[in-house]
Amino acid sequence: MKTIGLIGGMSWESTAVYYRRINEEVRRLRGGLHSAEVAMRSLDFTRVVDLQKANRWDEAGALLGEAGAGLAKAGASCVLICTNTMHLVAKPVAEMAGVPLICIIEETAKALRTDGRRKPLLLATRYTMEHGFYTERMQALGLEVVTPDADDRQRVHDVIFDELCQGRIEDCSRAVYHDIIRRAADKGVDSVILGCTEISMLIDPDNLPLPGYDSTRIHADAAVRFALADEMARAA
Ligand code: GLU
Repeated sequence: MKTIGLIGGMSWESTAVYYRRINEEVRRLRGGLHSAEVAMRSLDFTRVVDLQKANRWDEAGALLGEAGAGLAKAGASCVLICTNTMHLVAKPVAEMAGVPLICIIEETAKALRTDGRRKPLLLATRYTMEHGFYTERMQALGLEVVTPDADDRQRVHDVIFDELCQGRIEDCSRAVYHDIIRRAADKGVDSVILGCTEISMLIDPDNLPLPGYDSTRIHADAAVRFALADEMARAA
């Protein structure tokens, strides 16, 4: 089994979800007392948020890249940036880490394409919805990503940072998210991407008015496939 490197802490609430899901998948696939080989670097999220707010993406890339390099040195065979937003700096992080970076955007696109989806609604931070690194990559991968209008984007963003990343789950915010999804469904989108790694703490991707794609689960499962590739090939 290969060692999975997690660049986490963004927020730790969702990194904990990754850790659990990765281990649950290894248990499901290998049984018994098997668990995942994981190396993790968990950052102080405030440092990252301050760089996001100041638009200092180069410094953020260096910070995460250094974390990735440390994980590779500690034995990780791949790295995951455990947040959609910080894939904005995926390129420098991959370069600095020097081991394969499992990309959350590509894995999510693959999951949608496999199911024949074409036009997903994206719920994410404003950085992810507005900076283009996500929607343009998705477009290149054959998906026409739709984002909510500006007011709704702000609402979705605020719930992520003011509530979910702080471990607060509010029924009224769940209702807001459901309402945004319902309105998008009426306008012809065919699916919804939970494009922020905390969103599945608030809404259940398997119980929405549209087929839901949880980026956290998809990303974690891709890491397990990578880690167990040799074992799975032997078993086949
Ligand atoms: N975890 C979130 C994401 O998937 C947001 C936190 C961040 O800004 O990195 O985008």
